[in-house]
Amino acid sequence: MSLQESIEARLEPAGREQIGQLQIRRFTQLLGDLLGTNGFYTSKLGEAGVDSPHAVRSLDDLRRLPFTTKRELSDDQESNPPYGSNLTFPIDSYVKIHQTSGTTGEPLRCLDTVESWEWWADCWATVFRAAEVSADDRIFYAFSFGPFIGFWSSYEGARKIGALASPGGGMSSVQRLKAIFANDMSVLVCTPTYALHLAELAEQEGIDLASSPIEKAILAGEPGAGLPATRARIQRAWGAEAFDHAGATEVGAWGFECLDRNGLHVNEGEFIVEIIDPDTTEPASEGEVVITNLGRPGYPVIRYRTGDRARIETSPCSCGRTFARLDGGVIGRVDDVLIVRGINVFPSAIENIIRSIPGTGEFAVDVRRSNELDEMTIRVEATAAKEADVVADTETAMRNALNLRVRVEPVEHGTLPRFDLKARRFTDHR
Ligand SMILES: [Zn+2]
Repeated sequence: MSLQESIEARLEPAGREQIGQLQIRRFTQLLGDLLGTNGFYTSKLGEAGVDSPHAVRSLDDLRRLPFTTKRELSDDQESNPPYGSNLTFPIDSYVKIHQTSGTTGEPLRCLDTVESWEWWADCWATVFRAAEVSADDRIFYAFSFGPFIGFWSSYEGARKIGALASPGGGMSSVQRLKAIFANDMSVLVCTPTYALHLAELAEQEGIDLASSPIEKAILAGEPGAGLPATRARIQRAWGAEAFDHAGATEVGAWGFECLDRNGLHVNEGEFIVEIIDPDTTEPASEGEVVITNLGRPGYPVIRYRTGDRARIETSPCSCGRTFARLDGGVIGRVDDVLIVRGINVFPSAIENIIRSIPGTGEFAVDVRRSNELDEMTIRVEATAAKEADVVADTETAMRNALNLRVRVEPVEHGTLPRFDLKARRFTDHR
């Protein structure tokens, strides 16, 4: 039994208090590892008066520590090139570099040791086990592998559970579809947007996806699988169950869904998650997700402000787990709310509406100001249905759900951009 499995066995189900005690034990261990060796946190925590692991004895103590922001990590990397000073071990202990877009224009580079790379894989093994993906499964990655960490760590997680894994990088979408059938793949791992794109393409090519060998789809890299309408559409097209996942290069693979799919479970054996009001930074039930990782001493983040928005639920799940859940998963970014004529509109709400209308394909939303008035235009591809129906249905649904009058322009199928990572559908021109 791996450390991760034994932690899960001990914690699931455990009382909330027990989970908190284990988290703090592991956090003080982490502090012991990094104080005096990790330049970034030794100095940051030192300024906050923390120079010994014993300074933090409870989750309340942890909540008094300063937040970490992406800007700080980016600035630190710029001042201490090329990797910054958030390194606990000598550079030759590290075996992996991955990167994400930084805030200063330079990519933010995050390093892993042999041990922390195993930890990533263990966290992904948790994702697979919760969805009951096992050694009997064959996992296909419909993704162009690059410097982004997400799907590499998932690939390692597949090894941990003994499943057969196939990378789908360097292939066209049609080649990926063919590979899924030819290799009798049972699990698809990709972004929710790309799962929809493959479904659309299969329809054009006359491939009946519902009869494909895929039984489960684990969707990561962007929110979406937690949106009811997006999930329903993916499940219908693929004849498969869809599971949401959340993780980040700076943080780790921290979220998973159980078979009951009652929201995104937080892997609280490996991460401490807080939700704060992004303006006041006070604890909140809905707001910004703040994460401390417990198993990556070589590149730790303490109270990292992810910029993700979520609602937390700590009552036990019907699956029996007591790990907290995020209702509907990550519901967007804290700074991506669009204020249109005084109404707060979340991009995820618009996506959920459009995906629930039959015959809609890809879409793009633009907000402009004309004659002192905010105008929202939704360009939407009409697929199976008549253009006029799609326009009328979208307008009506937006008015009913959000109390917002929008202009809907039908566009030809296949003309809007497709994304295989982090879709960008919303543009505020004001
Ligand atoms: Zn559950």
